[in-house]
Formats: sequence, C-alpha cells, structure tokens
Amino acid sequence: MPAIKAAVCHAFGEPLKVENVDLRAPIAGEVEVTVKAVAICHSDISYADGAWGGSLPAVYGHEAAGHVTAVGDGVAGLSIGDNVVVTLIRACGGCPSCASGAPTICQTPYDGDHGPLKTADGGKLHQAMASGAFAEKVVVHHSQVVQLPADIPMESASLLACGVITGVGAVVNAANLRAGQDVVVIGAGGVGLNAIQGARIAGARRIVAVDMSAGKLEVAKEFGATDGVLASDPEPWKAAKAAMGRGADAVFVTVGVAPVYDTAPRYLAYGGKVVMVGMPATGAESKYEAANFAAVGQSMVGSKMGDVVIKRDIPWMADLYGQGRLKLDELISGRWKLDQINEAIADTKGGSARRNVIVFD
Ligand SMILES: [Zn+2]
Ligand SMILES: [Zn+2]
Repeated sequence: MPAIKAAVCHAFGEPLKVENVDLRAPIAGEVEVTVKAVAICHSDISYADGAWGGSLPAVYGHEAAGHVTAVGDGVAGLSIGDNVVVTLIRACGGCPSCASGAPTICQTPYDGDHGPLKTADGGKLHQAMASGAFAEKVVVHHSQVVQLPADIPMESASLLACGVITGVGAVVNAANLRAGQDVVVIGAGGVGLNAIQGARIAGARRIVAVDMSAGKLEVAKEFGATDGVLASDPEPWKAAKAAMGRGADAVFVTVGVAPVYDTAPRYLAYGGKVVMVGMPATGAESKYEAANFAAVGQSMVGSKMGDVVIKRDIPWMADLYGQGRLKLDELISGRWKLDQINEAIADTKGGSARRNVIVFD
C-alpha cells in the first residue's frame, strides 16, 4: 500500500504525531482525494481530547477539499482531476433516514477500524469520522464528496465541508427560517458566524449574537449580526429581547457547553424553537422548565451537520460564495503546514481563532 503522511492520535490529550501511514486504493463506490486543504474543527479537538471516546490510534480531520486522484468501480459523476469537497456525511442511500431525505442521520454504521487506513507496520488505524483527513490523501465513500467549481480556492472550499453547512443549514433546513423572523445565535465561533450569515441570507429581521468575547461580537456584525450581547451579562436574554423588541423565533446554540442549553429557551418568543447544534461532552446534562414548551408552543430540535443534503446544498453555497454573498475567506484566521498541526490546534483552543486551515503544496 502507498505510504502517505498523516497526523495520528495515539493517546487522548497528547499531541498528534505526523508519521507515514498506509492508505489503500479506492474499492467499489469509493474515491481517492489528494487533500489540498483541511480545516481544524472543534469536533476534531473534542475527539483528540477524548471527550467522545472512540478507537485509537486514529486520524481525525473531516473538513477537506482537494482533487480526485483515483476513482473506484461504480462511481458515477466524479472524474480524476475534479475539485471536490470531502465531508463526513457518509450516506448509504437505502436506510429509512437516507430514503426520507435525511442523509446526515444515516443509520448504516461505518466502522473506521476497517477502513482504508493502516499504520506503516500494517496495524489497525482508525479512519475517524469516515474521513481521516489530517493526511495528504483520503479514500472515502462517493456519497461524502461534492464537485466544486474549478476556480474556488481550496482552503475556502474546505470550510464548506462542515462549519459552513452546519451553521447555514441549521437556519435554512432545521429552523426553516422565514424572511422577517428574529434570530439569536449563541456563540460567534466557526459555526455561529455561519448561522449568522445563514440568517442574513434567509432574510432575518434581527440577528442577535451572544458571546463571551466583545471582539467576537464585533466580528459577528461583519457576518450580519444586527446586535451583540455579552454572554457574561447575568441575564443576557433580557438584552437580546430588548434588541429584538420581542423573543426570538429561533435560537441557535452553536457551542458545546451544556449549561448554555439550560438558558437558551429564555430567549424564545411564543412558538419559537431552540436549534441544538453544539455538542457537549458525552454525559453532560442540561435542564429547563418543561411545561413552557407545551404552554406556548415552543420546541427544541437537534440539527446534525445543518440537516444538509450535500449534493443539493453545497453547490448553492459555493455559488453564493462566487457571487460574494457568502463569506468564506474571512472565516480563515490561519494557514499552517501539516507538521504544524499541534500549534494550529493550540491556536484554535485559544478561542480567538475563526478557522485554522492546514494547507498542502
Ligand atoms: Zn467539523
Ligand atoms: Zn443511510
């Protein structure tokens, strides 16, 4: 098997190790993509820190863009040389979720222990999130891949794999936001900024960003927030409601912090919904006053990966980017080499970064 360089996690909480690993050629239904850019997501960091468990050693990384360099049997519509984005949304196409148009919650399990990766000495190497994209190349199922315009920069395109679709999709698909509705976005990080620009694209009236950092609230305004509220305020929902003149039709929780879910319903208008995007660590619980939901028709709904259908949603987002109506370049705060991945992760953990992207020559 050909050797490639990848950043491998051998123990939770330890630095990743960049080393040679083996990647087999694509079999039926798979494609090989030579990675040109891969963004670092908080999910990668949560996995590497052990927050969600999982098999080790493992290769994380799931927000990649690159060129198709090999195609397995039975793959239609993708050719060698195509610019593509690689997502973690592996969809079988035949389970009840896939068949009802919800591929992000595909019910067919995938075991990354038996994927295309092996350690250099032939041992088990887990392909995390069906991607393993902190690497020079990936071999993935064709359902995870979407063709891109030829002229889109690869580092910008990589963001379409996760952070952008998760935020924009939460607004457009999960909340089904109508023009004129009011929105609160809790957390103005990589996903939150995209929920904010998704709300702007969808025609929201007021878009209130809530974050611990005054600097991030300023950035949020560049992405379309009309108002900003500091989360350190003892009762930030009061300031948010004052800005809107009412409660929110949709509140997007984009941070993986359980106590934030306790208070998210307080921002709601009658009939409003909390869209649950951020994922706290396994076992973390939150609580809220249950009766209110029935009394005033409120709801909480989970949204995985923006409930996207990638071959429908990524092309329109790429086109909006080409028109200057969806910001991608502005989301990138740092570019790094694969050998610098631990520094890049530390920078992301510092909290001030938007998206750090690993780029390949
Ligand atoms: Zn991600
Ligand atoms: Zn499925």
